[in-house]
Amino acid sequence: MNRSLKIGVMALQGAFQKHVEMLDRIHIKSETIRYGEQLRLIDGLIIPGGESTTMTKIIMEMGILPELEVFDKPIFGTCAGAILLSEKCDDPNIQVIKKTPVKTLRNAYGRQVDSFTESVNLSFTNEPFPAVFIRAPRITDCTPEVEILGRFNGEIVLVRYQKYLLSTFHPELTNDPRIHEYFIGMIDR
Ligand code: GLN
Repeated sequence: MNRSLKIGVMALQGAFQKHVEMLDRIHIKSETIRYGEQLRLIDGLIIPGGESTTMTKIIMEMGILPELEVFDKPIFGTCAGAILLSEKCDDPNIQVIKKTPVKTLRNAYGRQVDSFTESVNLSFTNEPFPAVFIRAPRITDCTPEVEILGRFNGEIVLVRYQKYLLSTFHPELTNDPRIHEYFIGMIDR
């Protein structure tokens, strides 16, 4: 692993601290991001899970959207972060960052299964990954250029499109760094 990389973890709302801890574990420097100008100094960005409506509101209030739109480094969106990166969402209130040609459906697993952990097969590693789903979205449509990296029960749960990685679950809530390592591998150096 290249130790001079620095990854930004968006810290406006939601589950950002666990991403910072996971990056520490794999010896990658990180910086919590609250202002648009900080994006100029990082090699990749993680947008965490949380509440996509609230995160959208804060992004708009803080005026970060223009900096996010021109940010051209890899971005990893987990859960709410994946919703923000999707080109389309069933909820029109979300000011999506629109980097990835997929459609997301919020809170798509229903109330009775708000949270669950399942083993998910990933295309880049042999052992299944323990995926934690918390009021997770579904990815309902994606164009052929989107690479499907993981499915659970037929549902698409991890995808890559160019510099963007989207998971509908929370890899930072496990002790398993494989998806974070995959993301670090997407960064040019
Ligand atoms: N349900 C949340 C939303 O729609 C996402 C949940 C999460 O990030 N764990 O924004």
